[in-house]
Amino acid sequence: MASVTFEKATRIYPGTTRPAVDQVELTVNDGEFLVLVGPSGCGKTTTLRMLAGLEEVNEGRILIGDRDVTQVPPKDRDIAMVFQNYALYPHMTVAENMGFALKIAGVKKDERAVRVLEAAKLLDLEPYLDRKPKALSGGQRQRVAMGRAIVRKPAVFLMDEPLSNLDAKLRVATRTQIASLQRRLGVTTVYVTHDQVEAMTMGDRVAVLKDGLLQQVDTPRALYERPANVFVAGFIGSPAMNLMTLKIVGGVVKFGNTTLKIDSAVLGKTKEKAITAGLRPEDLVLSKNEGIEVEIDVIEELGADAFLYGSALIEGEKVDVIARIGSVSSHRSGDKVFLKPQGGITHIFDVTTGLRLNNDAPATAKKAVAANPAAVAAVAAKPAAKKAAAKTAAKPAAKKAVAAKPVAKKAVAKPAAKPAVKKPAAKKTK
Ligand code: ATP
Repeated sequence: MASVTFEKATRIYPGTTRPAVDQVELTVNDGEFLVLVGPSGCGKTTTLRMLAGLEEVNEGRILIGDRDVTQVPPKDRDIAMVFQNYALYPHMTVAENMGFALKIAGVKKDERAVRVLEAAKLLDLEPYLDRKPKALSGGQRQRVAMGRAIVRKPAVFLMDEPLSNLDAKLRVATRTQIASLQRRLGVTTVYVTHDQVEAMTMGDRVAVLKDGLLQQVDTPRALYERPANVFVAGFIGSPAMNLMTLKIVGGVVKFGNTTLKIDSAVLGKTKEKAITAGLRPEDLVLSKNEGIEVEIDVIEELGADAFLYGSALIEGEKVDVIARIGSVSSHRSGDKVFLKPQGGITHIFDVTTGLRLNNDAPATAKKAVAANPAAVAAVAAKPAAKKAAAKTAAKPAAKKAVAAKPVAKKAVAKPAAKPAVKKPAAKKTK
């Protein structure tokens, strides 16, 4: 076991000028499960491949434990990878597949058998050791791929979207298995996913990337409760956080027919005349006649909870709004209701930089802004909200979960808008 350290690690692909991974500073503690998450093209796989030695590090360095591995070939890094396409050898049995890397490494037959059996027990694969991959289910094959990594007893596991090929139900079951297996084995793990729910449920800590820049590294709870900037705020959480631009007038902001006081110390941190306000769906409550008037598009009943998707006019612009309401609701599509925040505004961001203004934002976010202010600005809420939408259960409602979309457009300050909305080229389909 070992820690992993990225020191200003940068990757600039040949023929490109913008780094795919830009001065990433990150330490993964010994035994920790760290998830790298972010939208497509943000540099997750590149970061992992740099750690694996499959991608050149153009600037900075990478350490495994105290050892600088920046120039060390992959086979000498003491790592094991599990990829999305965990191709198994079709002509080999499960046991042979799992023990193959050990055979190549010259491990004796008896020792190989012991290690394969040990891993098979951990993965509930004992009954299948003599089967060929074609006689296994998708989940079992995925576990064989895990087994191949486990038998090697590496210092670090690297996993790149290992669950992508599984159906939704199996994904949920397998992610729990992997997380608990990792905790039992205690092997430092770096896990890549674009799925924020997967990241939040599996990681001890989660590192959020955008445009090659690290936005925030924190525990899932801290990311949810104190996102360092508008991007993280919009990306983490499902349904997505409501983000809206509110003008500051005399130390207060107007929220529909009510005014909300903003702490003067918070306002003192911005030169702008407006803030980006962030309210999670659970921060909003129905009220008789206070707050913003929302026209309901759809109510999504989930059993224990219900989500209201609607739109409101805020500062003269139509803004999509999501609120969590009690599961028993008499409201219907087309109804008009009032919503107000339970407390004050939970998340307050600078309208230009996108940085958090209330409570101190973590240092990584400030660094990301320093490196590329545009990349961090409000924009990010747009794709993130779409992603969150895709995850909500009911289809018609899911479409509505794009609360942050129009808000985000509004929240983007001019200098930030242009580069930030640029779509990264998708390298591969997952
Ligand atoms: P996804 O979730 O879609 O796999 P990702 O976050 O893993 O995305 P990377 O694959 O690391 O992203 O890619 C980061 C950026 O680098 C993207 O803009 C991608 O187009 C670019 N890129 C990746 N591989 C290469 C390459 N071999 N040559 C040039 N550019 C590349």
